[in-house]
Amino acid sequence: MENKIKKKIVTIIGARPQFIKAAVVSRELRKRTGIEEIIIHTGQHFDENMSKIFFDELEIAEPKYNLGISSLSQGAMTGKMIESIEKIVIDERPDLVLLYGDTNSTLAGALATVKLNIPVAHVEAGLRSFNNKMPEEINRILTDRISSLLFTPTDKATENLTAEGFINLGARIIPSGDVMYDSAILYKNNEKIPDIEIPEKFILATIHRPETTDSYENLINCINVLKNNAPFPVILSLHPRTKDKIKKYKIDTDCGNLMLIDPVSYREMQYLLGRSEFVATDSGGLQKESFFNGKYCLTLRTETEWVELVDNGTNYVCGYDPVKIIEAMDIIVKKDRFDPASYDLYGNGNASKIIVDTIIDYLN
Ligand code: UDP
Repeated sequence: MENKIKKKIVTIIGARPQFIKAAVVSRELRKRTGIEEIIIHTGQHFDENMSKIFFDELEIAEPKYNLGISSLSQGAMTGKMIESIEKIVIDERPDLVLLYGDTNSTLAGALATVKLNIPVAHVEAGLRSFNNKMPEEINRILTDRISSLLFTPTDKATENLTAEGFINLGARIIPSGDVMYDSAILYKNNEKIPDIEIPEKFILATIHRPETTDSYENLINCINVLKNNAPFPVILSLHPRTKDKIKKYKIDTDCGNLMLIDPVSYREMQYLLGRSEFVATDSGGLQKESFFNGKYCLTLRTETEWVELVDNGTNYVCGYDPVKIIEAMDIIVKKDRFDPASYDLYGNGNASKIIVDTIIDYLN
């Protein structure tokens, strides 16, 4: 039952994956009467092809606030965000604040909101890498702890929260499925051809996590192995952070096998995913999208939150060791194709509907 009194939700987003996740939930919110959504963009990602392109292509409403906070250290960025978000939340007095994933924008939003006694809903709750060196892991754990509604994308995420005692903390755990799966279904036949040269066979790669890019050794290992040992040409979509670090470390990327491209839009990425031989990435979202597209994934990290893909043999977590990466590439090229439809891992493609239904029910 939807209430006649309008409820106000503030959504806080700031980074590329959050735009993609929020787009499908916002779309669902717009279908409902009695709900007003206000978007705060923290400014964490600000380049045209890391931000605006997603708002335009995925039809996300214009943010009412853009905080313009980016390119600072972890603490400075989170602190500035808390201060600015607090002011807005005091002015707007929302009934609930909706947060996504594991960035500094997520944690700052949670801290500012909960101290004003306003409930927080966390989409993509319960994920754990069990690696506290990752800023994302700290952001996830702390955001989960102070959220009232915890929307889990996978069974493992629900298990993690249960094992950590969340059942006794007064929060509601809602196994919703993964909003990125909703999005993959929505855009399945709506891809866009990017304006780049596309080899007949290629590997699609992205690298952006601080864990990879902030270490010269990790980054050069990834680049060199893709450059020198990949069985096909590699299209590497360059995140601004990676671009900066390649320049800073003076890493030589010049080589026929490695094609560096600027970040592309979501629909362009879906086109590339569909045509790739396999994926090599340290991205969380891309690991799943590679699975949705029936492609094997070589994960350039030492662990993953998406353990179900390792368990079913479609994701190879190789760390930064060139020997392991080369071994995994050898295995992947010999493997038979797999059908993602034969697995039931990320819900039924109705995660956004479950999330919105639950929020409406909670607020009434
Ligand atoms: N993505 C994109 N264009 C690119 C590279 C990635 O649209 O050039 C999309 C990708 O398809 C996925 C999301 O960005 O949906 C993943 O975001 P990212 O890797 O930045 O963050 P993570 O998922 O690791 O949090």
